[in-house]
Amino acid sequence: MRRTYDIIVVGGGHAGCEAALAAARLGCNTLLITMNIDNIALMSCNPAIGGIAKGHLVREIDALGGEMARVTDHTGIQFRRLNTSKGPAVQALRAQVDRNTYKKTMRTVLEGQEGLDITQGEVARLVVEDKKIRGIQTTLGIEYEARVVILTTGTFLRVLIHVGLINYPAGRAGEFPATGLSENLRELGFKLGRLKTGTPPRLDARTIDFSVMNKQYGDDPIPPFSYMTDEIHREQIVCYLTYTSPETHEIIRNNLSRSPLYRGVIKGTGPRYCPSIEDKVMRFPHRDRHQVFLEPEGFDTVEVYANGISTSLPIDVQEKIVRSIKGLEDAEIMRPGYAIEYDFVPPVQLKPTLETKLISGLFHAGQINGTSGYEEAAAQGLIAGINGALKTQGREPLVLDRSEAYIGVLIDDLVTKGTEEPYRMFTSRAEHRLLLRHDNADIRLTEKGYATGLVTEERYKRFQEKKMHVEKEIHRLRTTRIDAKKVQVFINEPSITPDLTLARLLQRPNITYKDIEKISSPPCSLREEYKRTVEIEIKYEGYIKKEEQLIKRLQSMENMRIPPDFTYGDIPGLSKEVIEKLEAVRPISLAQASRIPGITPSAISILSIYVARRKKQKPYSIRS
Ligand code: FAD
Repeated sequence: MRRTYDIIVVGGGHAGCEAALAAARLGCNTLLITMNIDNIALMSCNPAIGGIAKGHLVREIDALGGEMARVTDHTGIQFRRLNTSKGPAVQALRAQVDRNTYKKTMRTVLEGQEGLDITQGEVARLVVEDKKIRGIQTTLGIEYEARVVILTTGTFLRVLIHVGLINYPAGRAGEFPATGLSENLRELGFKLGRLKTGTPPRLDARTIDFSVMNKQYGDDPIPPFSYMTDEIHREQIVCYLTYTSPETHEIIRNNLSRSPLYRGVIKGTGPRYCPSIEDKVMRFPHRDRHQVFLEPEGFDTVEVYANGISTSLPIDVQEKIVRSIKGLEDAEIMRPGYAIEYDFVPPVQLKPTLETKLISGLFHAGQINGTSGYEEAAAQGLIAGINGALKTQGREPLVLDRSEAYIGVLIDDLVTKGTEEPYRMFTSRAEHRLLLRHDNADIRLTEKGYATGLVTEERYKRFQEKKMHVEKEIHRLRTTRIDAKKVQVFINEPSITPDLTLARLLQRPNITYKDIEKISSPPCSLREEYKRTVEIEIKYEGYIKKEEQLIKRLQSMENMRIPPDFTYGDIPGLSKEVIEKLEAVRPISLAQASRIPGITPSAISILSIYVARRKKQKPYSIRS
């Protein structure tokens, strides 16, 4: 067996898979080591990928050359476009996937990747010399050497599962916990925190009366996630919607004394935006029902995910809760719900490259950084894999700006502000969300992925083709004047003057690109996806321009880089508190410094003078 690698990725979850693939595809000899090979890319909670903001992340991962979108397209069992009645910034895709096929497909991709070895084992400690990573050691005493190690250990560190007042250590239900690594990280000088999340019971479809529930269908035609997928032709499953009842809420209130959450047994902080059913009932006492979506786990299983009733109450109470819900009166639980409490490593201890500040060559990605969700994990895994590889090759790292990607927002939030609860991506976290749309992730990011070497020639060619078609069509709409007669034949629109261009007409609120096509169709037919981008770019032109101007103004602060060895303590006029905050985060730019909570505009203007002075004396790069 080989014992020396360029890069070792610890963990085969969503972060680990993207990290390992990116590293190997960039030419690094890579090892993925994980506790159970059968559970590579396992979805710990709901069998779904995407959603608002999360779907944006998946598209960005795809545009940079990652894998999640393609595996979703291969294994999706129901696809839906969300928020179609709202503005383009908040529209996104969500897909239910076949849980087993998803993990099988991702494993096949990993196994087919040249330069990537996979092994089963538990990493017990990191091998570190002079603050530099040298490798890892497993619980069986095997040592592997590497120049870069990427930790993607998810919820497995010092983990406790809670079902009622019973708790026990387990990585996820049915899996071993990682026992030694937390302590080792603490010994190495990392600060650790504690978080909590939970999952609902899974039910047996054969015992559910779906006939009394509302049906939810997928979109037809199926909208694919990946820019590389042309069309998906597959039968889609139906999901169902039902509701909790006043009886459900009564059962919960009567059993709070058996809840580990309400008895204070669980110490970790849970996600406010994704509360358990007991939390929902107690926080919103005026509500007499809550939604429960029943989502099949796959084509060839009867297991159904009960989305909306995540709980850590004891099993007998879970049974009563389930049976108090319309259509679930006879339902059988196949797997109980549970809460999980685990260690995480607060991410202000990371650079924006996801390398730890403490140990050179050690990167952290995924839930270990305090995030929640497959998409957030995969996005970080991809960036850690890319930056790990670039580090071994002595190349400049990839750091995405907040104005170019949700991935940039995610990582900047984590490393600048840290997180006190499981961090989930929302569109409201992005200040330039009209630019960071779902439809244009490829236009924003494919060039970057190509420059790193992760985007294939085939993908790059396809992207160039799209860019060319979109630009040409926008130009045509801006320069073509309207044929007033045709307008009146096809659409009944007032105030048509001969100097009106197609673009100006499209900017009217009641006009769509479909109307424009009727009046004047493009010289060659365009894909639906290209048409959508053209429509948004024209309709929202004014807002988009304003955003771009704002970004230009902010760019000077982003470009004002702060050297990694900059000494804040020497600057007169900065308070002790400000100095402590700057020392803790060690921002890479003036813009990042300005986003640290508690850093005032006056502190930034003082800092800018000293950074400019230092820049004149000695140039630097963010690689060091
Ligand atoms: P994981 O997917 O957890 O993968 C970690 C990997 O690391 C595993 O392969 C494991 O075997 C491996 N590993 C760990 N330690 C070691 C070691 N020492 N040596 C070798 N290998 C190791 N997200 C949501 O968005 N919404 C939810 O409602 C939600 N609920 C959840 C409920 C539960 C019970 C759990 C467990 C998770 C939930 N999540 C939820 C979170 C979501 O599953 C994770 O955010 C996501 O899977 C994290 O991906 P990851 O790659 O960071 O880690």
